Amino acid sequence: MANDSVEVAVIGGGAAGIGAARRLRDAGVKAFILEARDRLGGRAWTVEVRGFAIDLGCGWLHSAKRNPWTTIAAAQGRTIDRTPPPWARATSQPGLSATEADAMRAALWALHERADALPEDEPDRLLADLLEPGGRWNALIDAISGYYSGAALARVSARDLGRYADDGVNWRVGEGYGAAIAAHGAGLDVAFDSAVTRIDHGGRRIRVETIRGIVEADAAIVTLPSALIAADEALFAPALPDKTRAAAGLPLGCDDKLFLSLAGAEAFAPETRAFGDPRRVATASYQLRPFGRPMIECYFGGALAADLERGGEAALFAFARSELVGLYGGDFARRVAPIATHGWGGDPFARGAYSYALPGRADDRAALAAPVDGRLFFAGEACSREDFSTAHGAYLTGVAAAEQAIAALKR
Ligand SMILES: Cc1cc2nc3c(=O)[nH]c(=O)nc-3n(C[C@H](O)[C@H](O)[C@H](O)COP(=O)(O)OP(=O)(O)OC[C@H]3O[C@@H](n4cnc5c(N)ncnc54)[C@H](O)[C@@H]3O)c2cc1C
Repeated sequence: MANDSVEVAVIGGGAAGIGAARRLRDAGVKAFILEARDRLGGRAWTVEVRGFAIDLGCGWLHSAKRNPWTTIAAAQGRTIDRTPPPWARATSQPGLSATEADAMRAALWALHERADALPEDEPDRLLADLLEPGGRWNALIDAISGYYSGAALARVSARDLGRYADDGVNWRVGEGYGAAIAAHGAGLDVAFDSAVTRIDHGGRRIRVETIRGIVEADAAIVTLPSALIAADEALFAPALPDKTRAAAGLPLGCDDKLFLSLAGAEAFAPETRAFGDPRRVATASYQLRPFGRPMIECYFGGALAADLERGGEAALFAFARSELVGLYGGDFARRVAPIATHGWGGDPFARGAYSYALPGRADDRAALAAPVDGRLFFAGEACSREDFSTAHGAYLTGVAAAEQAIAALKR
């Protein structure tokens, strides 16, 4: 790289950066992805363990029917698994009857409807304020907020969640969502292990400084996670305080997965879900036999994930094992062993799982996405008004930023 020159520097090679760079290449624009890691995909990451493709980051093709990754993965010849997700049906579990599970889902649905109905001309609310006062399922709904926002209801903007668009269809990629996303970047020009330290947009051309050299470009597309933009006021020179502020309104919540092997898996129905303790906020969700595999996918969210992640795999496993023993009895401890995990909160190139908006900050998504001087463009899941927190939202913002850059280069 030493001192390279391109038309567009794409900063970050996750779903957004790949989407942007592919669109630029298709338009005949010379683009270069600058990526801090030694791989493409970012928060989309499939690892092969014991012959299974395991998604440590995104796993579900949310809004699958209109999700561009569905088409891309199918075109790559991958298997689109259309089994409905466990959360789409009310299943009983120890400590929660089917009737109770139904009642909890109705209470969760009602909360989302109240968020959806919040008029745009009224002040934003905390999601927690929209809970039914004293509601029987409030603790579990708060735990679930940890799974889908990565944060407690008391931290999340109701307006932002109300804007989220979901077609209610959720599919998976048998060979891994992360693998499909990374493969879409095959053949693109990428500099790996090239963390960007500064984006100097004060001169005639944009100078992108990395730990391995400098790239000069006519335009740049910044796809860094919002947590990283918020944390470094000196990332842009001259500084862009509006960007730093907007990114700070869109923190990344904490969510981590831990995959366990499960001996005697046949005793459990495939694709079922159990909450560790349906009466607690600090509880994990367990998907038994995903894809029918002899495994459990444990999902930790919010403060619980942040706390346990600090203790590494051992702490995540100890917590999961104790909740599973509480559900299925003492013998269960011998049936499970950890096989894969990743701590996204401590990952220096993510610093969290996916973005949520703080109360009053839903419009920060548009502020973060807004171009600067017609040559600095922004993409990434946090920039999406209605598909934030997802891999398809990231992709769509990447393509949109590429379109903006293409139009700007023609001027
Ligand atoms: C546990 C978990 C579960 C999830 N589940 C789902 C799901 O089921 N469905 C779904 O749609 N989404 C899910 N997501 C969210 C989804 O993975 C993300 O929203 C999406 O991948 C974000 O893409 P992005 O391009 O915006 O950001 P990223 O993927 O984070 O891409 C940004 C890139 O920038 C790179 N980078 C960072 N710093 C620098 C630097 N200084 N210089 C250069 N490069 C840098 C990073 O390495 C990364 O490659 C999940 C995420 C996690 C963590």
